[in-house]
Amino acid sequence: MKSKKFILPESQMPTAWYNLVADIPHQPRPYLNPDTHSPITESDLRLILADELARQELSTERFIEIPDEVQEIYRIWRPVPLVRAIGLEKALDTPAKIFFKNEGVSPVGSHKPNSAVPQAYYNHKQGIRRLTTETGAGQWGSALSFAGNHFGLDVEVFMVRVSYDQKPYRRLMMNTWGATCHSSPTTLTQSGRTARMTDPHTTGSLGLAISEAVERALEDPEGTRYCLGSVMNHVLLHQTITGEEAILQMQMADAEPDVVIGCIGGGSNFGGIAFPFLRQNFCEGKQIRVVAVEPESCPKLTRGTFQYDIGDYSGYTPLIPMYTLGHEFQPSAIHAGGLRYHGAGAIISQLLHDGHIEATAIPQTETMQAGVLFARTEGIIPAPESTHAIAAAIREALRAKIEGRNTTILFNLSGHGTIDLFAYEQYLGGHLQDYIPSDEEIARTVQRLEQII
Ligand SMILES: *Cc1c(COP(=O)(O)O)cnc(C)c1O
Repeated sequence: MKSKKFILPESQMPTAWYNLVADIPHQPRPYLNPDTHSPITESDLRLILADELARQELSTERFIEIPDEVQEIYRIWRPVPLVRAIGLEKALDTPAKIFFKNEGVSPVGSHKPNSAVPQAYYNHKQGIRRLTTETGAGQWGSALSFAGNHFGLDVEVFMVRVSYDQKPYRRLMMNTWGATCHSSPTTLTQSGRTARMTDPHTTGSLGLAISEAVERALEDPEGTRYCLGSVMNHVLLHQTITGEEAILQMQMADAEPDVVIGCIGGGSNFGGIAFPFLRQNFCEGKQIRVVAVEPESCPKLTRGTFQYDIGDYSGYTPLIPMYTLGHEFQPSAIHAGGLRYHGAGAIISQLLHDGHIEATAIPQTETMQAGVLFARTEGIIPAPESTHAIAAAIREALRAKIEGRNTTILFNLSGHGTIDLFAYEQYLGGHLQDYIPSDEEIARTVQRLEQII
C-alpha cells in the first residue's frame, strides 16, 4: 500500500525559521532609501514596521526561533500534510512521484497566516494596538485579520475597490475576525483623497492601497504599524516553516525531491518551500532543481529587468533590487490575483540572476486546466494562484514520462480555491483567455525606471 499523506506530529513541528541570507553565495544588494539612495537602516524600517520585524528584515542569522506564542497559534493547523498526488500520477500515467504541501488547510485557506501570525505577535509584544495593511483579492487582509484577532489588535485593511465590490466573501471573513475593511481609495488619507479627486470612478490599485495603509500607520507612530504580506525578507523567512516541515516529511516518505516548485507573486510561498532545500544545495552539495512559476501575463522573472524598483506605486517602500516589470506595469485582470505583482523579492531575484533557481511562465488556460484535473484526481479545488505550480508539476511529470525517467516532484499548494469559484466558472464556460504582454508594453514601464536610479 502506498501512503497518501505524511503527517508530522505537533511535537515535531520545526521551532525555527530558516534565513537563506546566511548561506546564499552572493548577497543581494541592499535596499535603498528612495530619497537619499543610501542603504536602508533598521531605524528607517522601524518607522513603518515593528522593531523585531525591522531587525529580521536585515538579519544574517541562519535560524531564528519561532516564539512559543506563535507556535501555539500555528498548531491550529500546522504541521500541514505532505500529500502524495497518487490520483494525479495515475491520470498522467507518469513514472514520476508527485508530492505537495497542502497550505490550503489553514483557517484562512492559504499560506499567508504563516507570516501574519508572527507579524501580529511582534507588534502586540511591542505595545502596538493597531495594524494597517492593503489587500488585493483579500487573501492577505483575511490572514492579518485572523492573526490580529488572536492578539487583540485592531486591524484596518485597505482593499482595492474593484475587489471590494466584486469579492465580498474575503471581506466578510475579515469582518468576522473583527477587522475593518475599507474600499480603497478612501477619504481617510491624502493619497486616497487625491486619487478620488483625479478620477471619481477609479477602481483603485494595489499600489494605491499600500500608500493609504502606510500613510495611516505613519499618522500614529505610537500605536500603529504597517504589515506587508509578501516580497520582503522577513515575510519569506516566516514562510520557511513549510520547507522545514517538508524536509522532515519527505524523509518519512523515504523520498527526496529532484525538483521543488512554487508559484510566485512576491515570492513568499515559493521562498517558503524552496529556501530550506536550497540550503541542502548550498551546504550539502545537493543538486535539487528549484522552479518559480509565474503567469504569462505578468512575467517579471522571465521577461523583466533586474534593477532597483519601488515595492508600491507611490514610493513609500524602500528601493528593492529585483526582477521587475516596472511598478507602473498594469497586469491584465487574470484570476490569479495574488500573482499580479510587478516584482519579486530581493533574495529570489538574486538567486535567479546567479542561476541558482529557474523561472517559467505559464498561460492561465493551461493552469486552470491543470487545476480542474487536480480537483478531479486529488479532490482539492486549488486557488487559481496555486494552479500555476500544479501546471508546472504536470509539465515535469509528462517530461519524465517521455524520457522514461523516475523523478520526484514536490510543489507547494499555496491555497484552496473554494472562494475563487468565479475563476472556475469562467474557465468551465470557455470564457477564459490568455494574454501575453507585448515587448513594447513591457519596455514602456521598464524604461521609466531609468529615472529611479
Ligand atoms: C498571495 C497568494 C500567492 C502569491 O503570493 P506569494 O507571496 O508569492 O506567495 C499565491 N497563492 C495564494 C493562494 C495566495 O493567496
